[in-house]
Amino acid sequence: MKHFTTIQPLVQHLAGVRQKGLTIGFVPTMGALHNGHLSLIRIAQQACDVVVCSIFVNPTQFNDPRDLEKYPRPIAEDIKKLEQVKADVLFEPAVTEMYAGNEHWHLDIGELEHLLEGASRPGHYQGVTQVVKKLFDIVKPDVAFFGQKDYQQFLVISKMIELLHMPVKLIMCPIARETDGLAMSSRNVHLSAADRHNALILSKTLNNLKQRFDINQIPKLKREAEQIIAAEPGVELSYFEIADAETLHPATINTPHIVALVAAKVGNTRLIDNLVIS
Ligand code: AMP
Repeated sequence: MKHFTTIQPLVQHLAGVRQKGLTIGFVPTMGALHNGHLSLIRIAQQACDVVVCSIFVNPTQFNDPRDLEKYPRPIAEDIKKLEQVKADVLFEPAVTEMYAGNEHWHLDIGELEHLLEGASRPGHYQGVTQVVKKLFDIVKPDVAFFGQKDYQQFLVISKMIELLHMPVKLIMCPIARETDGLAMSSRNVHLSAADRHNALILSKTLNNLKQRFDINQIPKLKREAEQIIAAEPGVELSYFEIADAETLHPATINTPHIVALVAAKVGNTRLIDNLVIS
């Protein structure tokens, strides 16, 4: 695996790849890699000739400095995992390589960035679009792979690509889960044994909703889900929404595609999950 920490040598290397007529797949991450990340790399390998993975804990998308500080960074283990799955290129820049001092510019992609996660974490998606725009400009991938785990992030990046006419195709990859249903996340390492158990209420409630789903009962089903999660010890619900899968507005009886999304603090760790309902 080729390992780059600066932009210019990576750009040169990828220009050579492109010259050979090979396609480039890109999997951006913040590291602390788990099987969810590795599944994205495997999907990218099926679709593209050369797979680039980036590891960059992007400071501009954290609205809580303590969250940024305690974000796990096991880089030596990450490199081993990437070598095991035979990723071709790792880009692991320092913050100073990506940002020239205090950058205040951001893309206004409209209301999507202010709903749900955007409302709970003001400025989060401005940081996400800022760094993904920079990474796309550097890597110039043919295809970029993102997880359904961050469903709203996928919609935000799709919107950015549409607005800026960026020549990159996006693929949404399924959520990798532990055998008991917990969505894999780099933040799961912060869960105590009790948190780990309590966190299951999120995926259980989503699955239960899907099984019982009735489009005529959306407000009632949402209320019940909220109550069940709020009643779980050690779990502080941020939101549970049954939403239009394209706009993330609350779903109605006329909504064709529906996704349920949840965010909650479990112990001191904020977790998100979602499930496509119809
Ligand atoms: P992160 O390192 O958390 O920024 O995630 C990097 C990429 O991996 C994003 O596209 C995430 O949606 C994706 N991802 C994170 N967790 C999972 C998971 N459990 N299953 C599938 N993809 C995931």
